[in-house]
Amino acid sequence: MTKILNAHNGLKQGAEIIKNGGLVVFPTETVYGLGADAFNEEAVKKIFKAKGRPQDNPLIVHISSLEQVKDIAREVPSAFYKVAEKYMPGPISIILKKSDNIPMTVTAGGDTVAVRMPQNQIARDLISLSSPLAAPSANKSKHVSPTTAQHVYDDLNGEVDLIIDGGSCAVGIESTVLDLTTDTPTVLRPGAVTVEMLGELLGEVAMNGKAIKIAKSPGMKYTHYAPKVPTVVATTIEHAVAEYDKTISEGGNPVLVYRGIYESIDGRNLIDLGVTAEDYARNVYSALREAEINFDQIIIEELHGGGIEYSVMNRVYKSAGEKTV
Ligand code: AMP
Ligand code: MG
Repeated sequence: MTKILNAHNGLKQGAEIIKNGGLVVFPTETVYGLGADAFNEEAVKKIFKAKGRPQDNPLIVHISSLEQVKDIAREVPSAFYKVAEKYMPGPISIILKKSDNIPMTVTAGGDTVAVRMPQNQIARDLISLSSPLAAPSANKSKHVSPTTAQHVYDDLNGEVDLIIDGGSCAVGIESTVLDLTTDTPTVLRPGAVTVEMLGELLGEVAMNGKAIKIAKSPGMKYTHYAPKVPTVVATTIEHAVAEYDKTISEGGNPVLVYRGIYESIDGRNLIDLGVTAEDYARNVYSALREAEINFDQIIIEELHGGGIEYSVMNRVYKSAGEKTV
């Protein structure tokens, strides 16, 4: 049985576990992270084992102060500090050239490393008390990312030494990944720091079309974020309702995951994502986990806005294996 402690009781113990080469799950503003000492190769290997994660999917190194960057990366470009000044701490990971201190296991054999400074105070306290932490999301490989300690427990009980419970994650989808090792800064994964925000700050930002179809970032070729039951995206609420009714007539038990802005679709199984783009990001993974437990098909309404809605849809398309109605 893995212990769950709050920050007050768990931080000191968590730091000791990290220093001794163990695994600690910690809250961040994006999703829960599964952390190990980023400089300890044996500890980092345990992350891959606990998650069932392929070796060629790199981890993000989490820091608590910008001074730590020099131990992790080399030839840091000025654009890094420009982004850091505005968005760190915050929900963004930046790809830099790796330093020799960082084991190849962290970077999946590559010459670049992802660096992120979380906004969450518990995460930064844990790092300050121990070490920069190599961490992916704290879910079983390919499952939906966790946004509560209970989600983590459901996936990783018995596989990690400690879970620090910091409540629900404020943002709810994984960090933006920005690559600064290429000629043009390139968004490899959209997130709460949006493509638009980075374009405005840096003048020029590339995004690989719909990044979900591109295997540029190591790890992107894997199916991620997948619920355990079939999931489809409906391009409009009318399509969603039609698909729902069709599934019912065939004897299925579907659920409609939708924006809470409609009044005339009650009498059906519904999970409400809220009413703002920030609500959709915060609630989407809880909604998918709740849906897979209670229903046998998920029908999710497509979001057509840019910014964070675009980032949320990046995850949702993957959940649905790109199936739309
Ligand atoms: P997770 O925290 O579970 O979302 O996993 C970390 C993700 O960050 C990986 O799947 C990659 O998409 C991305 N990432 C980490 N390190 C690198 C890197 N060196 N180059 C490109 N992408 C990276
Ligand atoms: Mg992940």
